[in-house]
Amino acid sequence: MFSCWLSRLCRGLSTPTGRVTHLIQGSLSRRLMLSSQRIPELSSFVARTNTCGELRSSHLGQEVTLCGWIQYRRQNIFLVLRDFHGLVQVVIPQDESAASVKKILCEAPMESVVQVSGTVISRPPGQENPKMPTGEIEIKVKSAQLLNTCKKLPFEIKDFVKKTEALRLQYRYLDLRSFQMQYNLRLRSRMVMKMREYLCNLHGFVDIETPTLFKRTPGGAKEFVIPSREPGKFYCLPQSPQQFKQLLMVGGLDRYFQVARCYRDEGSRPDRQPEFTQIDIEMSFVDQIGIRSLIEGLLQYSWPSDKDPVVVPFPSMTFAEALASYGTDKPDTRFGMKIVDISDVFRNTKVGFLQDALSKPQGTVKAICISEGAKYLKRKDIESLRKLAADHFNQCSVLGKLRLECADLLEARGLVLRDPALFSFLWVVDFPLFLPKEENPGELESAHHPFTAPHPSDIHLLHTEPKQVRSQHYDLVLNGNEIGGGSIRIHDAELQRYILATLLKEDVKLLSHLLQALDFGAPPHGGIALGLDRLICLVTGAPSIRDVIAFPKSFRGHDLMSNAPDSLPPEELKPYHIQVSWPADSEAEKSSLNQPYHPES
Ligand code: ASP
Repeated sequence: MFSCWLSRLCRGLSTPTGRVTHLIQGSLSRRLMLSSQRIPELSSFVARTNTCGELRSSHLGQEVTLCGWIQYRRQNIFLVLRDFHGLVQVVIPQDESAASVKKILCEAPMESVVQVSGTVISRPPGQENPKMPTGEIEIKVKSAQLLNTCKKLPFEIKDFVKKTEALRLQYRYLDLRSFQMQYNLRLRSRMVMKMREYLCNLHGFVDIETPTLFKRTPGGAKEFVIPSREPGKFYCLPQSPQQFKQLLMVGGLDRYFQVARCYRDEGSRPDRQPEFTQIDIEMSFVDQIGIRSLIEGLLQYSWPSDKDPVVVPFPSMTFAEALASYGTDKPDTRFGMKIVDISDVFRNTKVGFLQDALSKPQGTVKAICISEGAKYLKRKDIESLRKLAADHFNQCSVLGKLRLECADLLEARGLVLRDPALFSFLWVVDFPLFLPKEENPGELESAHHPFTAPHPSDIHLLHTEPKQVRSQHYDLVLNGNEIGGGSIRIHDAELQRYILATLLKEDVKLLSHLLQALDFGAPPHGGIALGLDRLICLVTGAPSIRDVIAFPKSFRGHDLMSNAPDSLPPEELKPYHIQVSWPADSEAEKSSLNQPYHPES
């Protein structure tokens, strides 16, 4: 496991180095820079000559200086040094003349940081370690420096050592030393760099930062509120740069992108983060196909070279088809087991509950065919399916959930349905423009956001049957996860006003800046946002999006390392004209404000 993903980490990073070769490499890399394949110089500007993980037999005889953390020590003879690039064996000198070097290397606690200088030598015959990329060589040390010692750690820095996630998050800076976290964050950085390259260098996009202090906007997710020094006035953190990117189109910046931080105050939700990152894109004079081709090219270009290449164009499916065949708007198309309508088979049935279902308006009988189900599924599996169906009775999405649950059960019994190496992309299109409001089904709300343009063939229905209007929204789905979404926007101020005021009953004053901008020659435009955290999570196969974010929040939205959010003394709240009104049952909490902190478990 370790060597497998370590070699993945090294691919694309390893470089032949050493002081002399640096010079050669300097001019070589300048030339390579002309192509897009520049090899990074991993040891420029710093005390080391090489990284721990890069040394091979080709470096034999070279004088090197390495900096790293002490991973292991064996019998005061060998020391294994680690940096982000890998491990290397260092031979501790035993002769009297090197007593001070020996003392440093033998006495420094594990995970102390040391700098060693010496010669790359080959390991004695029979002592090579084929599991270690640097296993043919070792370093004969001449000098050593203890750069910093390490106190007793809350957990060992070894990937195989089990630790709770709460502990990992509390000591995130230590968790980041693990190879897995290093791999995830470095892969993320490489993919984002390729995306920038594709968008800016190959397609002329402009990287523009938009404000994160904004105001409340209608519709969409709940926003975080930021107090201001003006009594009763608040900023909000934007749930996305949606309005700004549209305004940039009005401003003539017709190809915008941003690696944008977004904020949504949605409470505790599994595998969601209150702050997350989007690759946010907007273009003028574009249609749906244009945006889709751009994104297909972007993913193809930035896809890691050690994965199967991305095949384009991605297939597409209408929202209606997705719901009918997969019971969800984000179908996992890596396997079949589609939902089929078998109402006709039962039209004349005498079976009571089926008759009952079919007699209702739009009542149907649907089934999922599980080939070999009888062979693989046990009685207790059928029981758990029955329970899931009962728990979600009357939700339409129940069939989609059953399909996925069946797949999980079959795979738990040994059948492989979803190839772990397969990345199955899908566009879902033709969503409804509006949905009935959950709390008041007589009223409408936007299925996505209120700036989404109606489908051109349904515009005439806006005034008569708005519920029937499809939108020009598109979602990108990967292996059953929504990884992006966007739309062609409304650029006509009148239409936007009508949708906001008449159909959605929103206060248009809140959006007067946008409506005015649309009136001043707004070009037709559209865009999309890719959820970067989720995308990287799927690419790396990480169990959670928290594993691809350097400093994520816990399930309850807390930073377990710094204990944010934290309380403020009343005098610090005064300039904001804010007073905390403590709920009646929170006396204990109030008095614990100055108590030592206990992490969530
Ligand atoms: N702003 C939208 C979102 O965050 C994406 C878009 O429509 O471009 O979901």
